[in-house]
Amino acid sequence: MAAVQEARVGDGSEVCDRGPRQELACRVLLFPLPFQGHINPMLQLADVLYNRGLAVTILHTRFNALDPALHPEFDFVTVPDGIPAEVAAAASGNIIEIILTMNEAMEATTAVDDVLASVIADEARPRSACLFIDGNLLAVQKAAAKLGLPTLVLRTGSAACLGSFLAFPKLYEMGYLPRQQSQLYMPVKELPPLRVRDLFFSIHSSQEKVRKVLARITESVKGSSGVVINTSEALEINELERIHSEDNVPMVLAAGPLHKLSSTSTGSSLLDQDYSCIKWLDTQPVRSVLYVCFGSLSSMNSNEFLEVAWGLANSSHHFLWVVRPGMINGMNGLDFPDGFNVSVQGRGKVIQWASQQQVLGHPAVGAFWTHNGWNSTLESISEGVPMLCRPQSSDQMMNARYVEKIWGIGFELEGELERGRIEIAIRNLMCGREGVEMRKRAEELKIEVLDCLNTYGSSRIAIDKLVNYILSL
Ligand code: UDP
Repeated sequence: MAAVQEARVGDGSEVCDRGPRQELACRVLLFPLPFQGHINPMLQLADVLYNRGLAVTILHTRFNALDPALHPEFDFVTVPDGIPAEVAAAASGNIIEIILTMNEAMEATTAVDDVLASVIADEARPRSACLFIDGNLLAVQKAAAKLGLPTLVLRTGSAACLGSFLAFPKLYEMGYLPRQQSQLYMPVKELPPLRVRDLFFSIHSSQEKVRKVLARITESVKGSSGVVINTSEALEINELERIHSEDNVPMVLAAGPLHKLSSTSTGSSLLDQDYSCIKWLDTQPVRSVLYVCFGSLSSMNSNEFLEVAWGLANSSHHFLWVVRPGMINGMNGLDFPDGFNVSVQGRGKVIQWASQQQVLGHPAVGAFWTHNGWNSTLESISEGVPMLCRPQSSDQMMNARYVEKIWGIGFELEGELERGRIEIAIRNLMCGREGVEMRKRAEELKIEVLDCLNTYGSSRIAIDKLVNYILSL
């Protein structure tokens, strides 16, 4: 018998760690989409399952390859992704293009089938029970189906987002889509509180390509044995019920926020995280700092950069600003305007990449100016931090809409980025009456969400169900 040890996880509750890998019951394979916002929740899920006594093998592409040294407890297998170097270089921010190219390349050869077959046949490892795929990897699901390997989908976006993907064909039939400039603020009555502008869209790809990618996600969900959504009943009970009521959608489990169930929530960063900002935060007054970060993919032009810089400087508030390499279009190094550094001395810090969950959990952070990627949104909610929302594309508008309209824990900064409007928005959130109410609501929502992670909480029960299901395979 394997020694059964009690281990502590991120939220402080207890899980069962069954010790040495060779004695684990069976193995789960997990294949994330190779982008930061998809890798993080997949590795968090891997960690949760590992801590429940399952062996873990991570399949990953060469494009944005993972570093196995960060996770000696998992096995790693590289899968040919077929993404030509020029597509990877030209489309590093164009996720739709990469998804389509990668799936086409994977479907054109038997390379994925061969890798999966050899992983399954490996008798030195515990039996492979199932494969978790990112919903964008339909090609991998098809390969697994040929081998009789059950698949489950991890949805790294919200339940509202999945619900809207399932409804996409109907939204075309009803005339909401393709989106027309004149209808952007029209409510989508079937998906409250969304308006046409809140529906998924890409700034880089055509509506037809987006439609194709979303249809393939729906196919992967309906063709799998179940879908795990990185959300919580405390946030999206109605949206989850709507998905449950859909035809042909298998087991639906709301098991998030996964980073709060995982003990290695920061072990999957593609960029080096700058920990000096934590020491700097230690020197700042409680709730005084605005954390500013627009995620791993979004970008801005040099004029917008200038407006953000002066908006932050003129707000007189303290800030920690992540400016990712390559984030400012047409700018190689960081070129701050004259007078900026002097103006923000002692109250402003700029870094290239943060340990974001740690930053958001720091008592000095009072608010988050975010692009509202789903992970960033969930991470902010989990720490009770109110948000200034600046969504750009994909599911970000939808997430911002929920932050403002459903949860009341932030508001959107719409229109052009202009220093005067930025300054006012920051002041409203950091010290205005509205901001105080949003912070209070954010604190309450945090407690509701974290309650779902307790032993009898809905997310914890979802993980129990999932593990029992995997063990039954
Ligand atoms: N992130 C990070 N450091 C940073 C910025 C982001 O570790 O400086 C992480 C963040 O915690 C989140 C992920 O990168 O888990 C970004 O995912 P999200 O869905 O928010 O946005 P995306 O990058 O996919 O647009």
